[in-house]
Amino acid sequence: MGKILKVYNPYDGTIVDSIPESTLEDVEKALNKLEVGKKIMSNLSSHKKAEILFNTAKLIEENSKDLVLTLVKEVGKTIREAQIEVRRTAEIFRLAGEETKRIHGETLPFDSVRNSENKMGFFMRVPIGIVAAITPFNVPLALAAHKIAPAIAGGNSIIFKPSTLTPLADIKLCQLLYKAGLPEEALQVVVGPGETIGEAVVKDHRVRMISFTGSRDVGLDITRKAGIKKISLELGSNSALILSDKGNVEECARVTVKGGYAVAGQVCISIQRVLVHKKVLEEFISHLIPLVEKLRVGDPMKEETDIGPMINESAAKRVEEWIKEAINLGGKILTGGERERTLMKPTVLIDVPLEAKVIREEVFGPVVTIIPFNNLEEAIRITNDSKYGLQAGIFSNDIEEVFYAIKNLEVGGVMINEAPSYRADFMPYGGVKDSGIGREGIKYALEEMTEIKTICFNLKEGLS
Ligand code: NAP
Repeated sequence: MGKILKVYNPYDGTIVDSIPESTLEDVEKALNKLEVGKKIMSNLSSHKKAEILFNTAKLIEENSKDLVLTLVKEVGKTIREAQIEVRRTAEIFRLAGEETKRIHGETLPFDSVRNSENKMGFFMRVPIGIVAAITPFNVPLALAAHKIAPAIAGGNSIIFKPSTLTPLADIKLCQLLYKAGLPEEALQVVVGPGETIGEAVVKDHRVRMISFTGSRDVGLDITRKAGIKKISLELGSNSALILSDKGNVEECARVTVKGGYAVAGQVCISIQRVLVHKKVLEEFISHLIPLVEKLRVGDPMKEETDIGPMINESAAKRVEEWIKEAINLGGKILTGGERERTLMKPTVLIDVPLEAKVIREEVFGPVVTIIPFNNLEEAIRITNDSKYGLQAGIFSNDIEEVFYAIKNLEVGGVMINEAPSYRADFMPYGGVKDSGIGREGIKYALEEMTEIKTICFNLKEGLS
């Protein structure tokens, strides 16, 4: 009898379910199957792949109640947050179904170089083979969909390793994919610790691409162990939102609440630093604090709850310690700061020195720190003074300021008069610096999950 993995409810600590943990032999068996699966997938027509992806979207919608409840129980998401994630997941499969029919190559102008006048050709996109999808705990379904759906569209087979903290909804998703018509050989799920099962997947030479979403440190470890294969990394951040004195203060406060505390701040693009022009600082605080204090923290199963628990007590304790460090360095709490087991009160800090962890590192909890500034150059300098660079936001109604920010912010995406946590699932999404390599968003992930094959015809000058 192998090991059993227990999945806990982060809110009350009860066991949601127990499942068998995969072994290294299971990884080997899975990869052997996927070698067969990659041939099946590369021979599947675009319309058949699109049909599987559309069927999956439909099945997700039909099973949404069960998936929502599973997410609430294993992640601690509120009902409303879980509903949004399930809706998004179906949408991602639908987007991939559409994109399946738009995988194009290009004709190549060979006669643009000497001695190639009689040549003509093109390139086409072909499947890459076996893709590894490794995902984090915070958005189990939608982030898995961002890897599995384009991998299918590209004609690949997939080895999928979800987080050991939240594997249950993902296992259900795999079952729906099989039901939708995906051959079992095309998708294999292995559930087990990253250090053993994840590492075995990362190192295996049969895996031709690793599509990883998770923390910076694990991402770095993957780059060291992967060997020669494609790697796409969607890592963390300490996202900043800038409020200029020419921006809508009230709207910025509303957006800060929306983007700073969703999933108890456990979102890679969660707003962590709000840089506020000193001229509008008091006004901003007067709008923000009542909105934050209105948020109801508690049982994620209750419809009225706005903020559920963090994933486990050690994660919540770490956030509490970082707040203490900020206070010891001279920072002040404007609201929040208290913890009850896994529940962390939504917190706003100010006057925190820039070297504090709540500013420099990724908090991944419901903590927002306000940083006042004198001019936009200073705000952008502070924003860029980070190892991360996923997305940033700016509230300003001055077009010159906005373009200055677009040009100078070192990030993968700039949101204007919107939270940096905004993401539409079709858009190119990803970071610079330690926030990652590559882009997701179906069309862009598909480019990464296919290889270019160049074709060249050597033609005679005339008919002989
Ligand atoms: P994590 O600890 O890095 O884990 C992510 C996945 O990697 C899990 O499945 C984990 O396995 C696995 N793993 C751990 N060590 C591994 C290794 N040595 N080799 C291969 N796989 C390994 O991240 P997390 O705590 O679950 O998620 C939070 C992080 O994800 C945050 O930093 C957040 O910013 C980032 N994130 C980024 C995005 C984005 O789009 N940029 C989106 C969401 C989250 P286990 O099951 O053993 O944990």
